[in-house]
Amino acid sequence: VLCVSQDFDFFYLVQQWPGSYCDTKKSCCYPSTGKPAANFGLHGLWPNYNDGSYPSNCDPNNPFDQSQVSDLTSELQSDWPTLACPSNDGINFWTHEWDKHGTCSESNLNQHDYFEAALKLKQQANLLKALKSAGINPDGGSYSLANIKGAIKDAIGFTPYIECNVDTEGNSQLYQVYLCVDTSGSNLIECPVFPRGRCGSDIEFPTF
Ligand code: 5GP
Ligand code: 5GP
Ligand code: 5GP
Repeated sequence: VLCVSQDFDFFYLVQQWPGSYCDTKKSCCYPSTGKPAANFGLHGLWPNYNDGSYPSNCDPNNPFDQSQVSDLTSELQSDWPTLACPSNDGINFWTHEWDKHGTCSESNLNQHDYFEAALKLKQQANLLKALKSAGINPDGGSYSLANIKGAIKDAIGFTPYIECNVDTEGNSQLYQVYLCVDTSGSNLIECPVFPRGRCGSDIEFPTF
């Protein structure tokens, strides 16, 4: 009997706004390669189930191996920069993301193709361009959550989920944007399920 296993149902493509990672109580450290551009950066490409749960750390026998992404290193440094402390070149972040999330889609995408897929998706989902074209700029101003979501939907074609965090003054701000991707890792789709969490109807878009 042939058994076709369904390892996961879709991916979340998660991008983070560096200004909102850095202006919290926890603060941040720039990568050893220098301050990232004032742009959204990749956080991850996360396999997920339609019921909202997700697999993690699926294959300890297939740990991150930098040699498999050596051709992508400069793109990873610019588009998937780490902001965690202490400063490092990013390998810690990419290792964490592969080991925790990437191994759960390894039957669809090997290490090289997983990172390449995320980088390509980021080009398809140019969040800063989408927001700026709607007059939503990282200027420390306050914007309506509905307008932010609408601007991304209009420019990219799919409704995002917005995750907020809180700056040192207690303001709710735009932290991460989630879009959904099919199991091939190449096409954006409407999200089958959204994460849970609160923002408030108006949120800050801090500078970086
Ligand atoms: P937090 O608890 O800060 O929201 O998330 C911590 C970590 O859990 C994330 O960095 C990510 O690795 C994982 N995570 C949180 N929410 C989701 C989700 O909805 N789907 C998946 N696949 N992973 C998630
Ligand atoms: P998650 O488990 O939520 O996918 O990823 C969060 C982990 O990645 C944490 O252990 C965090 O310290 C590490 N990390 C390294 N660099 C970054 C970064 O730039 N942003 C975020 N959100 N986490 C990072
Ligand atoms: P609605 O379904 O009317 O768009 O939203 C229902 C509730 O979910 C509202 O309280 C709204 O603020 C919240 N909400 C809608 N979209 C998002 C989102 O992308 N992120 C977060 N954190 N909350 C949202």
